[in-house]
Amino acid sequence: METKLFDDIIFGPLRSRRLGVSLGVNLLPSDFKLCNFDCIYCECGWTDLKKRSKSKFYSVTKVVSLLEHKLINLLEDGVELNSITFAGNGEPTLHPNFLEIINAAIALKEKYYPNAKVSVLSNSLMLHRIDVFLALQKVDNAILKLDAGSEFMFQSINKPLNARSLRWVVDQLKRFNGKCTIQTLFLKGISDGKIIDNTTDVEVGMWLELLKEINPKEVMLYSIDRPTPELHLEKVSHETLTNIANRVINSGINATVY
Ligand code: SF4
Repeated sequence: METKLFDDIIFGPLRSRRLGVSLGVNLLPSDFKLCNFDCIYCECGWTDLKKRSKSKFYSVTKVVSLLEHKLINLLEDGVELNSITFAGNGEPTLHPNFLEIINAAIALKEKYYPNAKVSVLSNSLMLHRIDVFLALQKVDNAILKLDAGSEFMFQSINKPLNARSLRWVVDQLKRFNGKCTIQTLFLKGISDGKIIDNTTDVEVGMWLELLKEINPKEVMLYSIDRPTPELHLEKVSHETLTNIANRVINSGINATVY
């Protein structure tokens, strides 16, 4: 199956199930994925560590001027916009000037689309950097990944490349004091000869306990929607996702299935 990379810094707008009409901003290289996770379901393919040393980031000036140009064009064309969304070919917070770019994006949004939101999809692995933490506190939607309830499932699904543990991630997420959204992808299958399933009663129970510690404003549940680098994975049914969402709601946290 073929995975996909985004060619441009600014892409869309696309209609997103979760964010409405969303203009994407990709801060990562266009020719390879750059991430500190190597999720077995990543729609951008496997993380290639050899390419990491060659990574060159776009300048703040370039990103901001392209974003402003696009927003002006959209406004002139009468296009509705619900979100400016930082996502793309990997982990956006790896950009060394992430905070500067977020500050500029918020200012541009206020100028051209004051009713839109600024959203960031992040895996939380750079939250030890104060500038990244500050940036994610400033945006309207900090949408942060938590795919597992156990360390085994975390290491098997997300494959962090910097020896981070699930406990480390949860402790970082707790620093938001509830001002964040958690996104969780549910899946089943086999990877590296191991059975992977984050939908079992035990896994969901442990994940739920972590959610209670984090107490996010919302949890977004979804499953595989596009080709994955690990071929032996299967999509989880809508019914299963709804049952898990109900367990979240019963514990007093908002949850939506996408
Ligand atoms: S965190 Fe996102 S970009 Fe990184 S490997 Fe996982 S799915 Fe891909």
